[in-house]
Amino acid sequence: MKREGAVSEADLFFTVDGGVLNEAKRQQVLKPMQSAVLDDNVPARWRDPEHYWIGVATRARVIVYAKDRVKREELSTYESLTDAKWKGRILVRSSSSLYNQSLLASFIALNGEGRAASWARGIAENMARAPKGGDREQAMAIAEGIGDIAIMNTYYVGQLSVSEDSQEARIPDGLGVFFPDQETGGTHVNISGIGLALHAKNEDNARKLVEFMTGTEGQTLLSSESFEYPVNPKAAIPDLLRSWGTFKAQSLDFAKLANNREKAIALFGQAGWK
Ligand code: FE
Repeated sequence: MKREGAVSEADLFFTVDGGVLNEAKRQQVLKPMQSAVLDDNVPARWRDPEHYWIGVATRARVIVYAKDRVKREELSTYESLTDAKWKGRILVRSSSSLYNQSLLASFIALNGEGRAASWARGIAENMARAPKGGDREQAMAIAEGIGDIAIMNTYYVGQLSVSEDSQEARIPDGLGVFFPDQETGGTHVNISGIGLALHAKNEDNARKLVEFMTGTEGQTLLSSESFEYPVNPKAAIPDLLRSWGTFKAQSLDFAKLANNREKAIALFGQAGWK
């Protein structure tokens, strides 16, 4: 979009990660999109205060565990996963994943660099295998008995549950979803969001689409398909998500995720997290 400038055909920029949305704002490829409908649909905490982007869904990065091999009472915080008792049991994708980079960036912001570095090292030491595949593959590896705990985003469990492959669709039955850090900083949450392109040629229709996507009907539909959490509190959520209960989320400025990304990548490198 930046390179195309005024000839860009994009009306909307739709992506995951609050840090990326902030970066798009900083790179000046977006312009503010404001309406009373949007303000009403989406709570202020999921919107850019200057209206350059707006969240359409949230996702939590949680602890997923093998119900037959891990007791819920054994789980507490992200940091507790560095305990020696989890040696050879933890599954997580590679450090090149934006999801892991934002997770570690959030720890740098909340707990400081030293504790974030120890966490990355501790997880790398407890891995069941060298990182391989996406979040979904970590859940599948629990089912195969390769490890007992996966650090992954909530919606992949939901998406597995509706898989057309009947064996895959049964995997979530054996999995527990645990929201870490409920007594401490809260579970890491990120967003999917949208911004209006700086050179949008269909501004009215673009805004109407986002108003629909963030409205009660659009949000209910979106959550039923993607298994992300709606940002609009009036939307219905799938039964599976409801069964996991409510949780306390990290309270964090998304701009900090982008600011700490480089540092997070360096800490992963030092930790030997491939
Ligand atoms: Fe994803």
